[in-house]
Amino acid sequence: MRRIVVIGDGMVGSRFAEQIVEADEGIHVTLLGKEPIPAYNRVLLSSVVAGTKSADLLHIAKQHPRVLRLTGVAAATIDRDLMRVIDSNGRSHPYAELVIATGSVARVPAIQGVADSGGLIDGVFVLKDMADAEGIVASAGRARRAVVLGAGVLGLEVATGLARRGVVVKLVHIAERLMERQLGWEASAVAESGLRRLGIDSHTGASLARVQTTRGRVTSVRLEDGSEMLTDMVVMCAGTIPETTLARNAGLVCERGIVVDDQLATSDPHIRAIGDCAQPPGGARGLVAQGWQQATMLVAALTGAQVQAADTAATADVVRVKASGMAMVAMGVCGDFDRADPRYRVLSLKDPEGGRFVEVVVSGGQLVGATCIGDADVAATLSALYTRQLPVPSDPAQLMIKALAGGGAPAATRDPADLKDDEKVCNCNTVTAGRIREAVADGCSTVKDVASRTRATTGCGDCTSLVEGLISCHRSPSTSPAAVAAVPQGA
Ligand SMILES: Cc1cc2nc3c(=O)[nH]c(=O)nc-3n(C[C@H](O)[C@H](O)[C@H](O)COP(=O)(O)OP(=O)(O)OC[C@H]3O[C@@H](n4cnc5c(N)ncnc54)[C@H](O)[C@@H]3O)c2cc1C
Repeated sequence: MRRIVVIGDGMVGSRFAEQIVEADEGIHVTLLGKEPIPAYNRVLLSSVVAGTKSADLLHIAKQHPRVLRLTGVAAATIDRDLMRVIDSNGRSHPYAELVIATGSVARVPAIQGVADSGGLIDGVFVLKDMADAEGIVASAGRARRAVVLGAGVLGLEVATGLARRGVVVKLVHIAERLMERQLGWEASAVAESGLRRLGIDSHTGASLARVQTTRGRVTSVRLEDGSEMLTDMVVMCAGTIPETTLARNAGLVCERGIVVDDQLATSDPHIRAIGDCAQPPGGARGLVAQGWQQATMLVAALTGAQVQAADTAATADVVRVKASGMAMVAMGVCGDFDRADPRYRVLSLKDPEGGRFVEVVVSGGQLVGATCIGDADVAATLSALYTRQLPVPSDPAQLMIKALAGGGAPAATRDPADLKDDEKVCNCNTVTAGRIREAVADGCSTVKDVASRTRATTGCGDCTSLVEGLISCHRSPSTSPAAVAAVPQGA
């Protein structure tokens, strides 16, 4: 028997534990998880905030007789000499191999009044785990106004989620544009007007100086320019920092994250690190697909098993905002790039009144970048074209408006029946249409069944309608499933 200890029962640590016991019958895993509940789909936490998904739907942990899962138990120290982990209850867990998968922590900007010796004050939140999501939801139930700090992807998701709950939201962002890495000026302006329609006021080029309270309750914030905003709660979405505390205390080499080589080994050959806490040679992206790929690679490295690691390259730079009431996706060449660059043919459609913006960047007959706001179907088409590297129509304008694409359906929107068996449906988990058809033929009759058999839909969840389509095709093969057709998108 070989004992592997995994620190962190998150999206990546739990996936690794499940895969390694399947790959090698001689392996037993102890999985230490600081949170009081087993692993869940953290990517969908903003949907819990928005009230579009209930917390129990996020559950992803699977039981296995050779995985000892300890919830609510943190690893306190790593004793590298004796090769054991001491947990928060003082118990010792000897290991042959140790895998650190401690994820990341939310960055808390240095703003006066956000925290005291007990941590964040009442009414001030980050969104990193289920407890945060539940705290935000409870507070939103009592709040009339909220300030969301940071207009990156998460900030927009939280702001729209709170607005959906009837809270009046002010979005404060330090850069001059929303999502400045992904959106150019025009796209940002359209996004701002779309947010305004949802009851969200954006304040760009602004930052918070101080959170003010009266009798222990948040009442307002003061901005750096001296102005004030009344608010009942503040949610800070200011990025994340790899959780390296344990590794640093154990003397492992850390920079921003825990430094690992191509085999995911840290500076101690018996200790590996995967997921958001790790800093691999090519850099960390903070996206779950990269962590899952690392988990699979590590299973192969530790067991010699032949496992297929997902190719995350195609989806790595597709950024999708899971915002309630505002579809938004950006990929590849986007943001503030040089539109006069002769390598690119750039087409755009701007409709601030309708809250729509579409920009496509074509080079060598392929879509190399796109930004789409306010049209979920066009966004899906563009994501599919980009991630699958499908050819662009001779007139790329057809990509921008559904009506031009013939019969209403965007060119790349696929009827599930037409998908080839080797075509990827779930990009997050690399699940093909063929694998889903097999599962359905084998008796899986709901999305939940298919998810538990194949893992499809358990990442970003974008492929859910396509999986539904494949299930319907099996039930009634003669009916055209076009009505349920959709295309998968990147994570
Ligand atoms: C709201 C939100 C939305 C997101 N949206 C997306 C998205 O759309 N697409 C995408 O790709 N990614 C998204 N992410 C990022 C994605 O969730 C992470 O990339 C992924 O969860 C990383 O998995 P992980 O296992 O490395 O870390 P985590 O899932 O964070 O898990 C780490 C676990 O380790 C535990 N831990 C830490 N220290 C200890 C200790 N000492 N002892 C025991 N346990 C410990 C933590 O409590 C946590 O449970 C989002 C994240 C959030 C918070």
